[in-house]
Amino acid sequence: MEFKLVDLEYWYDEFEPYIDKETMKIHHSKHHQTYVDKLNNSIKWTDAEWKSLEEIFENMSDFSDAVRNNWGWVYNHNIYWSSISPNWWWEPKWKLFEDIVNTFGSFDLFKSEMENAWLSQFGSGWAWLIVDKDWNLKITKTQNQDNPLMNILSSDNRWKPLFCIDVREHAYYLKYNNRRNDYLSNIWNIINWDKISDDYNN
Ligand code: MN
Repeated sequence: MEFKLVDLEYWYDEFEPYIDKETMKIHHSKHHQTYVDKLNNSIKWTDAEWKSLEEIFENMSDFSDAVRNNWGWVYNHNIYWSSISPNWWWEPKWKLFEDIVNTFGSFDLFKSEMENAWLSQFGSGWAWLIVDKDWNLKITKTQNQDNPLMNILSSDNRWKPLFCIDVREHAYYLKYNNRRNDYLSNIWNIINWDKISDDYNN
């Protein structure tokens, strides 16, 4: 079995001016592709070849760091690409909106807590909105290529990811240089709340 680079549901230039076309193109067609290739090389002739990404993460502690990095990289980027959309909706819908307000106080408070998580992520990594085991909404961060499905994370940081943002420099550097906070305050313009709300409400 071979993994393929996920097709995007938009063109590279559709996030202008928030994320520039060249960054999108390099991020998807070079960085992400490289790790799809590495993933395929790392699973050849192993048991992992016949497992889904999710199955591997559930049993992450049984696998090597190479598998952890390559598989995490591919999966996390898949979630990132579906977390943004040019047909953006300005806020979460239905029950997700209500639960965000109940959990964080207001939608604006949620956004600033999320931005704090993004900005305080040291080096490469990710910030997530997840549903935890008790069905609470929670903001979490992971280092490098780890994600909330991996069984190596503490149990209160695990479970179902709703969306994530890549805070590594290659996600914004060409346009924003070192201004991660500008990239992140603009990202609210392209969050795919339509899909995220559907995932949560179903
Ligand atoms: Mn990336």
